[in-house]
Amino acid sequence: MTAAKKSATRRKTALPKPAKCPDCDGHGEITEAVKVGTRKGRITDHRQTGLCLTCLGFGEAPTD
Ligand SMILES: [Zn+2]
Repeated sequence: MTAAKKSATRRKTALPKPAKCPDCDGHGEITEAVKVGTRKGRITDHRQTGLCLTCLGFGEAPTD
């Protein structure tokens, strides 16, 4: 059955400014503590910077 679906057209209201990504706070990068060991998962003082997977580095909250 191929009933023509009338998909509700999404109204894209022009946002004044994109919302900041909550995970990286708009930086596009996240710093996470480096864990050592598989059992205890001890957290060291070292921190590594990684690409924010929520916004993929754009720093904007994903809109869906
Ligand atoms: Zn982000």
